Amino acid sequence: MSSVLPRSQLAPSPAPPAPAGSKGAAPVATGEPLIRLRRVTKVYGSGSAAFQALRGVDLDIDAGEFVAIMGPSGSGKSTAMNILGCLDTPTTGAYEFRGVAVQNLTRDQRARLRRRWLGFVFQGFNLLARTSALENVELPLLYRGVPGEQRHAAARQALALVGLAGWETHTPAELSGGQQQRVAIARAIVSEPAVLLADEPTGNLDTARSREIMELLRDLNERNQITVLMVTHEAEMASYARRIVHFVDGVVDSDVVQRSAGGRS
Ligand code: ADP
Repeated sequence: MSSVLPRSQLAPSPAPPAPAGSKGAAPVATGEPLIRLRRVTKVYGSGSAAFQALRGVDLDIDAGEFVAIMGPSGSGKSTAMNILGCLDTPTTGAYEFRGVAVQNLTRDQRARLRRRWLGFVFQGFNLLARTSALENVELPLLYRGVPGEQRHAAARQALALVGLAGWETHTPAELSGGQQQRVAIARAIVSEPAVLLADEPTGNLDTARSREIMELLRDLNERNQITVLMVTHEAEMASYARRIVHFVDGVVDSDVVQRSAGGRS
């Protein structure tokens, strides 16, 4: 992403601010992975109703990776994504993000970490209806108190980056599913996150539109150095990732780096 997006002028964060004009994959302490899960477990409920969704997950992800998370329904993918996205905390084990022990942060600190470093894309786009593409994309900046002119400029640039220059005034109802997902991706990257977490981002799209979205995610990963973590159940979409992590029964069953990734094989 170009340095025009106002990362350096955004609201305060728990982690040290990135240098002005830096890219999405902000520097991490040397030798540290961006993300480190160690023996992470998650138990839902208690007593006889307790269910262990994660049973000891170890996972390191470096800045700049494009990782697809796959696995059967109920294998713990969403639970892991919720933890990685700082929306939930492990029952036991450790999650370090940029060297910060996330499980020790308060709810408020986690929210700030999320807003500063993470962008989210969902299967259902989750755009505000009757609200223009530009305003949808501006929302994260609005929450961070970025002034109007700066917001508009950053949102325009993010929309251009996802191929939607000229569509700023259109509402979701006036856009195709693929275009709506592009708006959602623009909203997720407008604040220059280090990591984009995408949960079944092509789940509501036909194959052609799905491929376009995957090409966009691949470009954002390769050109803009945004780390991408994506849950998908479609092998073709996972083939765009460099690495495929397979969950089975709450643990990482396989973790494979693909030789010909990026949907180019
Ligand atoms: P996946 O995303 O791979 O389908 P999930 O992480 O959603 O798997 O779920 C893993 C297991 O944890 C499933 O058996 C699911 O029913 C259970 N689970 C998920 N969320 C909750 C919850 N809030 N309360 C109780 N059980 C849950």
